[in-house]
Amino acid sequence: MSDTMKGQRLRGGVRPSRRYSEGRVCEERDCTTKISMYNRREFCHAHAPVRFPRVRGRILPEGT
Ligand SMILES: [Zn+2]
Repeated sequence: MSDTMKGQRLRGGVRPSRRYSEGRVCEERDCTTKISMYNRREFCHAHAPVRFPRVRGRILPEGT
């Protein structure tokens, strides 16, 4: 059972760093904010999709 061909790992040598295209700008229309090439997001900080945190506990009734 020799499985050496499978899952061989490259040692040293070329180590491609994860980069994204240079000089990108925010995908938002008319937004010219530059995005770092190390940032994988398509939008700038201001336009990044917001993730709402889960509401814990119960929702308080209005007009408390
Ligand atoms: Zn933007």
